[in-house]
Amino acid sequence: MSAFARAVHESDPSALRAVRIETLMVNVGLRCDQACAHCHQSCSPRRTERMSADMMEVVASVADDVRPRLVDITGGAPELNPDTRHLLARLRGSGHPVRLRTNLTALLTPEAEGLISTLADLRVSVLASLPGASEAEFAAERAPVFAQAREGLQRLSDAGYGRDRGLRLDLAVNRRADEPGQSDSAIKERFRSELTGRLGIPFDEMVIITNVAVGRFHERLERERSLDAYLLRLRESFNPETLPRLACRTCIDIAWDGTLWDCDFNLGRGVPLVEGVPRHVSEFDLAVLESRPVRFAEHCFACAASTGSG
Ligand code: SF4
Ligand code: SF4
Repeated sequence: MSAFARAVHESDPSALRAVRIETLMVNVGLRCDQACAHCHQSCSPRRTERMSADMMEVVASVADDVRPRLVDITGGAPELNPDTRHLLARLRGSGHPVRLRTNLTALLTPEAEGLISTLADLRVSVLASLPGASEAEFAAERAPVFAQAREGLQRLSDAGYGRDRGLRLDLAVNRRADEPGQSDSAIKERFRSELTGRLGIPFDEMVIITNVAVGRFHERLERERSLDAYLLRLRESFNPETLPRLACRTCIDIAWDGTLWDCDFNLGRGVPLVEGVPRHVSEFDLAVLESRPVRFAEHCFACAASTGSG
């Protein structure tokens, strides 16, 4: 049993298991136009992993059976998979609530030509990742492309996102657990003031995600020789009150090759589902998977630190 699983067991043994499947997270591939320092999947323009149209059809059939509250499309940059549009249309055509995660700059790539109006027509929600409200803050995590990200946000806003009913625009902001932080409410206030106040770009909610020591962020911490201190900081911030909200307890992650994972972080870290449950979408068994024991590991402390992580 991992240290995190022991901490969960001591606080609330029932939290060692999933309770239902409300969200199907679908990772359509690892290619991305960016290569962020905090990326738990180590995505970049060089990655070639990609979900095929056939696999997307299997995923959509599972969604038809499960009827989740949300199908959450992620990557990489999902915009760079040419079959993503087909998946979005298929899912929305079957009445599924769908959200697309975007890094905003991928919306400006040739592959994404016309995608924003398709998203708006299909009423697909958007979760836009924006790792900083200023140029310097943004460039520390991604690349000096703050202006392009802002342009992506502006185009979404011009299409009605964050303004019109049914065109939900949420923002995701990353934070390191070991930085002298501002409170969640101060971060939200700062982004709202900059984006909505100064630039006139309204949005719905903001999700604050604690950087998880997986993938490229793990490598970065090792390079900085701060991995142990980071993990210790997370352990010391363990808050049992976050356990009912752990994403893995109401979600399952489907990778580009159809394999199933507890969450996208476990996928990035290569931590498989527990033995004895279906591990591929072609064998999806709702009754078994919705109450599976979750495979916790050391990196899970990021999800239960302080106020929790979106
Ligand atoms: S964090 Fe997001 S935008 Fe950055 S490399 Fe990873 S998938 Fe791409
Ligand atoms: S990293 Fe994944 S498995 Fe671990 S607590 Fe977070 S959501 Fe659950």
